[in-house]
Amino acid sequence: MAQRYQILKPDWILTVDADFAVLRDAALVIADNRIDALLDAGEIAELDCFAGADIVELPGRVLLPGFVNSHTHASMSLFRGLADDLPLMEWLTEHIWPAEARWVGPEFTADGLRLAAAEMIRGGTTCLNDMFYFPDEVARTLQAVGMRGVVGLIVLDFPSAWAQDADEYLHKALAVHDEIRELPLIDSALAPHAPYTVSDEPLRKVAMYSNELDIPVHMHVHETAGEVAEAEQKTGRRPLERLDQLGLVNPSLIAVHMTELNPLEIERVAEAGVNVAHCPESNLKLASGICPLAALLAQDVNVCLGTDGAASNNDLDLLGEMRTASLLAKGASGDARACTARQAIEMATINGARALALGDRIGSIEAGKLADLVAIDLRAANTQPVYDPVAQVAYAAAASQVSDVWIDGVPQLREYELCHLDQAEIVARARAWANRIESAR
Ligand SMILES: [Zn+2]
Repeated sequence: MAQRYQILKPDWILTVDADFAVLRDAALVIADNRIDALLDAGEIAELDCFAGADIVELPGRVLLPGFVNSHTHASMSLFRGLADDLPLMEWLTEHIWPAEARWVGPEFTADGLRLAAAEMIRGGTTCLNDMFYFPDEVARTLQAVGMRGVVGLIVLDFPSAWAQDADEYLHKALAVHDEIRELPLIDSALAPHAPYTVSDEPLRKVAMYSNELDIPVHMHVHETAGEVAEAEQKTGRRPLERLDQLGLVNPSLIAVHMTELNPLEIERVAEAGVNVAHCPESNLKLASGICPLAALLAQDVNVCLGTDGAASNNDLDLLGEMRTASLLAKGASGDARACTARQAIEMATINGARALALGDRIGSIEAGKLADLVAIDLRAANTQPVYDPVAQVAYAAAASQVSDVWIDGVPQLREYELCHLDQAEIVARARAWANRIESAR
Protein backbone atom coordinates (compact mmCIF):
# COMPACT_ATOMS: atom_id res chain seq x y z
CA MET A 1 0.00 0.00 0.00
CA ALA A 2 1.23 3.49 -0.84
CA GLN A 3 2.47 5.51 2.09
CA ARG A 4 0.33 8.36 3.27
CA TYR A 5 2.33 11.57 3.55
CA GLN A 6 1.57 14.68 5.57
CA ILE A 7 3.87 17.67 5.18
CA LEU A 8 3.88 20.16 8.04
CA LYS A 9 5.16 23.67 7.43
CA PRO A 10 5.60 25.61 10.67
CA ASP A 11 7.79 28.71 11.15
CA TRP A 12 10.12 26.92 13.60
CA ILE A 13 10.87 23.32 14.53
CA LEU A 14 12.36 22.60 17.97
CA THR A 15 13.80 19.17 17.32
CA VAL A 16 14.90 18.47 20.92
CA ASP A 17 17.61 16.26 19.40
CA ALA A 18 21.03 15.86 21.05
CA ASP A 19 22.13 19.31 19.77
CA PHE A 20 18.76 20.88 20.51
CA ALA A 21 18.64 22.11 16.90
CA VAL A 22 16.09 24.82 16.18
CA LEU A 23 15.13 24.89 12.48
CA ARG A 24 13.71 27.91 10.67
CA ASP A 25 11.50 27.49 7.58
CA ALA A 26 11.86 23.71 7.53
CA ALA A 27 9.18 21.20 6.60
CA LEU A 28 8.52 17.97 8.42
CA VAL A 29 7.35 14.94 6.46
CA ILE A 30 5.19 12.33 8.19
CA ALA A 31 4.90 8.98 6.43
CA ASP A 32 2.05 7.00 7.96
CA ASN A 33 2.79 7.14 11.71
CA ARG A 34 6.49 8.07 11.54
CA ILE A 35 8.64 11.13 11.03
CA ASP A 36 10.11 10.51 7.59
CA ALA A 37 12.29 13.55 6.96
CA LEU A 38 13.10 17.15 7.81
CA LEU A 39 13.56 19.18 4.65
CA ASP A 40 14.07 22.74 3.58
CA ALA A 41 10.57 24.10 2.95
CA GLY A 42 11.70 25.29 -0.49
CA GLU A 43 12.79 21.78 -1.57
CA ILE A 44 9.41 20.18 -1.00
CA ALA A 45 7.66 21.60 -4.07
CA GLU A 46 10.31 20.08 -6.32
CA LEU A 47 9.99 16.54 -5.01
CA ASP A 48 7.58 14.39 -7.05
CA CYS A 49 7.40 11.68 -4.43
CA PHE A 50 5.28 13.96 -2.23
CA ALA A 51 2.67 14.70 -4.92
CA GLY A 52 -0.72 14.14 -3.37
CA ALA A 53 0.55 14.60 0.20
CA ASP A 54 -1.55 16.56 2.71
CA ILE A 55 0.15 19.94 3.08
CA VAL A 56 -0.46 21.46 6.49
CA GLU A 57 0.44 25.14 6.63
CA LEU A 58 1.27 26.21 10.18
CA PRO A 59 1.95 29.97 10.00
CA GLY A 60 3.38 31.52 13.15
CA ARG A 61 3.61 28.12 14.79
CA VAL A 62 6.47 26.37 16.49
CA LEU A 63 6.48 22.59 16.16
CA LEU A 64 7.82 20.43 18.99
CA PRO A 65 7.76 16.79 20.04
CA GLY A 66 4.50 16.07 21.90
CA PHE A 67 4.72 16.51 25.66
CA VAL A 68 5.13 13.49 27.93
CA ASN A 69 3.28 13.76 31.24
CA SER A 70 5.51 11.54 33.34
CA HIS A 71 3.23 11.23 36.36
CA THR A 72 -0.51 11.51 36.55
CA HIS A 73 -3.66 9.83 37.76
CA ALA A 74 -5.75 10.86 34.75
CA SER A 75 -9.11 9.53 35.92
CA MET A 76 -8.90 11.66 39.07
CA SER A 77 -9.85 14.65 36.91
CA LEU A 78 -13.40 13.82 38.06
CA PHE A 79 -12.24 14.82 41.59
CA ARG A 80 -10.84 18.18 40.46
CA GLY A 81 -11.76 20.74 43.12
CA LEU A 82 -13.29 18.15 45.47
CA ALA A 83 -10.89 18.93 48.34
CA ASP A 84 -8.34 21.75 48.28
CA ASP A 85 -5.97 23.72 50.50
CA LEU A 86 -5.01 20.71 52.63
CA PRO A 87 -1.71 18.94 53.37
CA LEU A 88 -1.03 15.62 51.62
CA MET A 89 -1.96 13.14 54.37
CA GLU A 90 -5.15 14.90 55.41
CA TRP A 91 -6.12 15.36 51.75
CA LEU A 92 -5.45 11.68 50.98
CA THR A 93 -6.84 9.92 54.03
CA GLU A 94 -9.87 12.12 54.76
CA HIS A 95 -10.97 13.02 51.24
CA ILE A 96 -9.37 11.26 48.28
CA TRP A 97 -9.12 7.66 49.50
CA PRO A 98 -12.71 7.66 50.86
CA ALA A 99 -13.99 9.20 47.60
CA GLU A 100 -12.07 6.60 45.58
CA ALA A 101 -13.45 3.78 47.75
CA ARG A 102 -17.00 5.05 47.22
CA TRP A 103 -16.94 5.92 43.51
CA VAL A 104 -14.13 4.32 41.54
CA GLY A 105 -15.04 1.55 39.11
CA PRO A 106 -14.50 0.89 35.41
CA GLU A 107 -17.00 3.53 34.28
CA PHE A 108 -15.54 6.24 36.55
CA THR A 109 -12.05 5.33 35.33
CA ALA A 110 -12.99 5.61 31.66
CA ASP A 111 -15.06 8.81 32.01
CA GLY A 112 -12.35 10.52 34.07
CA LEU A 113 -9.70 9.47 31.61
CA ARG A 114 -11.62 10.89 28.64
CA LEU A 115 -12.00 14.23 30.44
CA ALA A 116 -8.27 14.22 31.14
CA ALA A 117 -7.46 13.22 27.56
CA ALA A 118 -9.45 16.14 26.14
CA GLU A 119 -7.56 18.56 28.41
CA MET A 120 -4.16 16.96 27.78
CA ILE A 121 -4.48 16.87 23.99
CA ARG A 122 -5.60 20.51 24.01
CA GLY A 123 -2.47 21.31 26.03
CA GLY A 124 -0.07 19.42 23.75
CA THR A 125 0.39 16.25 25.79
CA THR A 126 0.63 13.17 23.59
CA CYS A 127 1.81 10.53 26.09
CA LEU A 128 1.10 9.98 29.77
CA ASN A 129 2.46 7.80 32.52
CA ASP A 130 -0.63 6.87 34.50
CA MET A 131 -1.23 5.31 37.90
CA PHE A 132 -4.78 4.32 38.83
CA TYR A 133 -7.13 1.46 39.61
CA PHE A 134 -8.60 -0.56 36.71
CA PRO A 135 -5.47 -0.28 34.52
CA ASP A 136 -7.15 -2.56 31.96
CA GLU A 137 -9.85 0.09 31.51
CA VAL A 138 -7.22 2.85 31.36
CA ALA A 139 -5.38 0.97 28.60
CA ARG A 140 -8.45 0.26 26.48
CA THR A 141 -9.77 3.81 26.84
CA LEU A 142 -6.42 5.38 25.93
CA GLN A 143 -6.13 3.18 22.87
CA ALA A 144 -9.70 4.07 21.84
CA VAL A 145 -9.02 7.79 22.37
CA GLY A 146 -5.82 7.52 20.32
CA MET A 147 -3.44 8.68 23.06
CA ARG A 148 -0.12 7.06 23.85
CA GLY A 149 0.36 5.91 27.40
CA VAL A 150 2.22 3.81 29.90
CA VAL A 151 -0.36 2.22 32.12
CA GLY A 152 0.58 1.73 35.77
CA LEU A 153 -0.19 -1.73 37.12
CA ILE A 154 -1.03 -0.56 40.61
CA VAL A 155 0.10 -2.41 43.74
CA LEU A 156 -1.06 -1.62 47.29
CA ASP A 157 -1.27 -3.48 50.60
CA PHE A 158 -4.84 -2.37 51.28
CA PRO A 159 -8.10 -3.22 49.53
CA SER A 160 -9.82 -1.17 46.83
CA ALA A 161 -12.49 -1.78 44.22
CA TRP A 162 -9.69 -3.21 42.04
CA ALA A 163 -8.09 -5.78 44.40
CA GLN A 164 -8.16 -6.98 47.99
CA ASP A 165 -4.51 -7.46 48.97
CA ALA A 166 -0.99 -7.20 47.57
CA ASP A 167 -1.12 -10.72 46.13
CA GLU A 168 -4.26 -9.98 44.17
CA TYR A 169 -2.88 -6.64 42.91
CA LEU A 170 0.24 -8.44 41.69
CA HIS A 171 -1.75 -11.26 40.12
CA LYS A 172 -3.94 -8.75 38.29
CA ALA A 173 -0.90 -6.68 37.30
CA LEU A 174 0.57 -9.64 35.42
CA ALA A 175 -2.77 -10.52 33.85
CA VAL A 176 -3.33 -6.93 32.62
CA HIS A 177 0.26 -6.73 31.35
CA ASP A 178 -0.46 -9.77 29.17
CA GLU A 179 -3.91 -8.59 28.15
CA ILE A 180 -2.83 -5.16 26.87
CA ARG A 181 0.50 -5.98 25.25
CA GLU A 182 -1.01 -6.03 21.75
CA LEU A 183 -2.44 -2.49 22.02
CA PRO A 184 -0.12 -0.46 19.78
CA LEU A 185 -0.26 2.82 21.73
CA ILE A 186 0.04 1.23 25.16
CA ASP A 187 2.93 0.05 27.32
CA SER A 188 2.83 -0.93 30.94
CA ALA A 189 4.80 -0.26 34.13
CA LEU A 190 4.55 -1.75 37.58
CA ALA A 191 3.14 0.90 39.89
CA PRO A 192 3.58 0.21 43.59
CA HIS A 193 1.89 3.29 45.07
CA ALA A 194 4.52 4.40 47.64
CA PRO A 195 6.96 3.00 50.20
CA TYR A 196 4.43 3.65 52.99
CA THR A 197 1.57 1.77 51.28
CA VAL A 198 3.42 -1.33 50.00
CA SER A 199 5.37 -3.74 52.24
CA ASP A 200 8.67 -5.47 51.57
CA GLU A 201 7.43 -8.78 50.19
CA PRO A 202 5.32 -7.36 47.34
CA LEU A 203 8.07 -4.81 46.60
CA ARG A 204 10.58 -7.66 46.17
CA LYS A 205 8.20 -9.23 43.66
CA VAL A 206 7.80 -5.88 41.86
CA ALA A 207 11.59 -5.70 41.49
CA MET A 208 11.67 -9.26 40.17
CA TYR A 209 8.82 -8.79 37.66
CA SER A 210 10.23 -5.46 36.45
CA ASN A 211 13.47 -7.23 35.69
CA GLU A 212 11.82 -10.26 34.06
CA LEU A 213 9.34 -8.28 31.94
CA ASP A 214 11.78 -5.41 31.32
CA ILE A 215 9.22 -2.74 32.27
CA PRO A 216 9.60 0.38 34.46
CA VAL A 217 8.59 0.77 38.09
CA HIS A 218 6.50 3.89 38.68
CA MET A 219 6.29 4.92 42.35
CA HIS A 220 5.78 7.95 44.63
CA VAL A 221 9.03 8.28 46.63
CA HIS A 222 9.99 10.82 49.32
CA GLU A 223 6.97 13.02 48.65
CA THR A 224 7.13 14.81 52.03
CA ALA A 225 9.49 15.28 54.95
CA GLY A 226 6.83 13.65 57.16
CA GLU A 227 6.89 10.45 55.09
CA VAL A 228 10.66 10.17 55.43
CA ALA A 229 10.67 11.00 59.18
CA GLU A 230 7.95 8.45 59.90
CA ALA A 231 9.80 5.72 58.02
CA GLU A 232 13.02 6.55 59.87
CA GLN A 233 11.18 6.30 63.17
CA LYS A 234 9.48 2.99 62.32
CA THR A 235 12.24 1.20 60.45
CA GLY A 236 15.43 3.11 61.19
CA ARG A 237 15.87 3.64 57.46
CA ARG A 238 14.90 6.28 54.94
CA PRO A 239 12.50 4.96 52.26
CA LEU A 240 15.05 5.30 49.43
CA GLU A 241 17.55 3.18 51.37
CA ARG A 242 14.86 0.54 51.90
CA LEU A 243 13.99 0.53 48.19
CA ASP A 244 17.70 0.19 47.41
CA GLN A 245 17.96 -2.87 49.65
CA LEU A 246 14.90 -4.34 47.91
CA GLY A 247 16.59 -4.02 44.52
CA LEU A 248 14.46 -1.17 43.16
CA VAL A 249 17.01 1.63 42.85
CA ASN A 250 18.06 1.22 39.21
CA PRO A 251 17.41 2.74 35.72
CA SER A 252 13.92 1.18 35.60
CA LEU A 253 12.71 3.27 38.54
CA ILE A 254 10.60 6.38 37.90
CA ALA A 255 10.72 7.96 41.36
CA VAL A 256 7.96 10.55 41.62
CA HIS A 257 8.29 13.74 43.71
CA MET A 258 11.62 13.21 45.57
CA THR A 259 11.29 16.43 47.58
CA GLU A 260 13.45 15.08 50.42
CA LEU A 261 16.92 14.17 49.23
CA ASN A 262 20.21 14.60 51.06
CA PRO A 263 23.47 14.97 49.09
CA LEU A 264 24.34 11.28 49.44
CA GLU A 265 20.93 10.28 48.10
CA ILE A 266 21.32 12.62 45.12
CA GLU A 267 24.67 10.96 44.41
CA ARG A 268 23.13 7.49 44.71
CA VAL A 269 20.22 8.38 42.41
CA ALA A 270 22.65 9.76 39.82
CA GLU A 271 24.97 6.76 40.02
CA ALA A 272 22.09 4.25 39.82
CA GLY A 273 20.46 5.96 36.81
CA VAL A 274 17.12 6.49 38.57
CA ASN A 275 14.61 8.70 36.73
CA VAL A 276 12.97 11.45 38.79
CA ALA A 277 9.44 12.61 37.88
CA HIS A 278 9.21 16.15 39.20
CA CYS A 279 5.68 17.47 39.87
CA PRO A 280 6.30 21.04 41.00
CA GLU A 281 2.72 22.33 41.04
CA SER A 282 1.30 19.39 42.97
CA ASN A 283 4.19 19.64 45.46
CA LEU A 284 3.59 23.37 45.88
CA LYS A 285 -0.17 23.07 46.27
CA LEU A 286 0.04 20.33 48.91
CA ALA A 287 3.03 22.11 50.50
CA SER A 288 4.82 18.77 50.21
CA GLY A 289 8.30 20.23 49.77
CA ILE A 290 10.57 21.23 46.91
CA CYS A 291 12.45 18.75 44.74
CA PRO A 292 16.13 19.83 44.52
CA LEU A 293 15.95 20.13 40.74
CA ALA A 294 19.09 22.24 40.25
CA ALA A 295 21.20 19.73 42.17
CA LEU A 296 19.71 16.76 40.29
CA LEU A 297 20.30 18.38 36.89
CA ALA A 298 23.86 19.30 37.93
CA GLN A 299 24.47 15.56 38.48
CA ASP A 300 22.92 14.67 35.09
CA VAL A 301 19.98 12.83 36.63
CA ASN A 302 17.22 12.19 34.08
CA VAL A 303 14.47 14.44 35.46
CA CYS A 304 11.10 14.49 33.73
CA LEU A 305 7.89 16.42 34.44
CA GLY A 306 4.48 15.35 35.67
CA THR A 307 1.32 17.13 36.64
CA ASP A 308 0.16 14.53 39.18
CA GLY A 309 -3.64 14.18 39.28
CA ALA A 310 -6.02 17.08 38.68
CA ALA A 311 -7.22 16.75 42.29
CA SER A 312 -3.88 18.15 43.54
CA ASN A 313 -2.72 20.50 40.76
CA ASN A 314 -5.50 21.34 39.57
CA ASP A 315 -4.83 21.14 35.83
CA LEU A 316 -2.93 18.82 33.48
CA ASP A 317 -0.96 21.52 31.70
CA LEU A 318 2.67 20.68 30.93
CA LEU A 319 3.45 24.15 29.55
CA GLY A 320 2.49 25.51 32.98
CA GLU A 321 4.53 22.79 34.66
CA MET A 322 7.64 23.68 32.61
CA ARG A 323 7.43 27.29 33.62
CA THR A 324 6.81 26.49 37.29
CA ALA A 325 9.65 23.95 37.35
CA SER A 326 12.11 26.42 35.91
CA LEU A 327 11.07 29.36 38.09
CA LEU A 328 10.99 27.22 41.23
CA ALA A 329 14.46 25.79 40.54
CA LYS A 330 15.87 29.29 40.08
CA GLY A 331 14.19 30.65 43.20
CA ALA A 332 14.99 27.67 45.41
CA SER A 333 18.65 27.43 44.36
CA GLY A 334 19.33 31.17 44.15
CA ASP A 335 20.74 30.60 40.69
CA ALA A 336 19.00 32.19 37.68
CA ARG A 337 20.90 29.79 35.42
CA ALA A 338 19.27 26.74 37.03
CA CYS A 339 16.78 24.85 34.83
CA THR A 340 17.10 26.77 31.58
CA ALA A 341 14.29 27.07 29.03
CA ARG A 342 15.98 24.29 27.05
CA GLN A 343 16.16 22.02 30.08
CA ALA A 344 12.49 22.66 30.90
CA ILE A 345 11.48 21.62 27.37
CA GLU A 346 13.75 18.55 27.51
CA MET A 347 12.18 17.49 30.80
CA ALA A 348 8.70 17.67 29.23
CA THR A 349 9.69 15.71 26.12
CA ILE A 350 12.81 13.56 25.64
CA ASN A 351 13.55 13.04 29.35
CA GLY A 352 9.99 11.82 29.91
CA ALA A 353 10.29 9.50 26.93
CA ARG A 354 13.55 8.07 28.31
CA ALA A 355 12.10 7.56 31.78
CA LEU A 356 9.23 5.60 30.25
CA ALA A 357 11.68 3.49 28.20
CA LEU A 358 10.26 5.07 25.04
CA GLY A 359 13.29 7.24 24.23
CA ASP A 360 14.00 5.40 20.98
CA ARG A 361 10.41 5.90 19.75
CA ILE A 362 9.27 9.37 20.89
CA GLY A 363 10.48 12.54 22.67
CA SER A 364 12.31 14.28 19.83
CA ILE A 365 11.77 15.21 16.18
CA GLU A 366 14.12 12.91 14.28
CA ALA A 367 13.60 10.77 11.20
CA GLY A 368 12.39 7.31 12.16
CA LYS A 369 10.65 8.34 15.37
CA LEU A 370 6.89 8.13 15.80
CA ALA A 371 4.99 11.27 14.79
CA ASP A 372 3.85 12.60 18.18
CA LEU A 373 3.89 16.36 17.61
CA VAL A 374 2.51 19.62 18.97
CA ALA A 375 2.19 22.99 17.21
CA ILE A 376 1.98 26.16 19.31
CA ASP A 377 0.79 29.43 17.79
CA LEU A 378 3.18 32.18 18.83
CA ARG A 379 1.24 34.96 17.09
CA ALA A 380 -0.67 35.85 20.27
CA ALA A 381 0.32 39.12 21.98
CA ASN A 382 1.76 37.31 24.99
CA THR A 383 4.33 35.49 22.82
CA GLN A 384 5.40 38.42 20.60
CA PRO A 385 7.91 39.37 19.42
CA VAL A 386 9.85 36.14 18.93
CA TYR A 387 13.58 36.58 19.57
CA ASP A 388 13.81 32.97 20.67
CA PRO A 389 11.00 30.41 20.24
CA VAL A 390 12.58 28.27 23.00
CA ALA A 391 12.05 30.99 25.60
CA GLN A 392 8.53 31.69 24.33
CA VAL A 393 7.52 28.05 24.76
CA ALA A 394 9.10 27.62 28.20
CA TYR A 395 8.21 30.97 29.75
CA ALA A 396 5.28 32.61 27.95
CA ALA A 397 3.07 30.27 25.92
CA ALA A 398 -0.27 29.09 27.33
CA ALA A 399 -2.01 25.77 26.73
CA SER A 400 -4.70 27.70 24.86
CA GLN A 401 -2.10 28.49 22.17
CA VAL A 402 -1.70 24.81 21.27
CA SER A 403 -3.32 24.70 17.84
CA ASP A 404 -2.49 21.25 16.45
CA VAL A 405 -1.52 17.86 17.83
CA TRP A 406 -0.60 14.58 16.14
CA ILE A 407 -0.29 11.27 17.96
CA ASP A 408 1.19 8.34 16.06
CA GLY A 409 0.77 10.36 12.88
CA VAL A 410 -2.96 10.88 13.46
CA PRO A 411 -4.24 14.45 13.81
CA GLN A 412 -5.90 14.74 17.23
CA LEU A 413 -6.25 18.55 17.28
CA ARG A 414 -6.51 20.64 14.10
CA GLU A 415 -6.82 24.43 14.27
CA TYR A 416 -7.89 24.20 17.95
CA GLU A 417 -10.63 21.60 17.29
CA LEU A 418 -10.48 18.09 18.74
CA CYS A 419 -10.64 15.65 15.84
CA HIS A 420 -11.94 12.53 17.55
CA LEU A 421 -13.16 13.38 21.05
CA ASP A 422 -16.64 14.76 21.62
CA GLN A 423 -15.90 17.38 24.27
CA ALA A 424 -19.56 18.28 24.89
CA GLU A 425 -20.41 14.67 25.68
CA ILE A 426 -17.28 14.21 27.82
CA VAL A 427 -18.10 17.32 29.86
CA ALA A 428 -21.75 16.28 30.24
CA ARG A 429 -20.65 12.94 31.70
CA ALA A 430 -18.21 14.68 34.04
CA ARG A 431 -21.01 16.95 35.26
CA ALA A 432 -23.25 13.93 35.86
CA TRP A 433 -20.51 12.35 38.02
CA ALA A 434 -20.07 15.59 39.96
CA ASN A 435 -23.81 15.73 40.62
CA ARG A 436 -23.82 12.16 41.98
CA ILE A 437 -20.72 12.77 44.12
CA GLU A 438 -22.01 16.12 45.41
CA SER A 439 -25.47 14.81 46.32
CA ALA A 440 -23.92 11.99 48.39
CA ARG A 441 -21.75 14.35 50.47
ZN1 LIG B 1 0.68 11.02 42.30
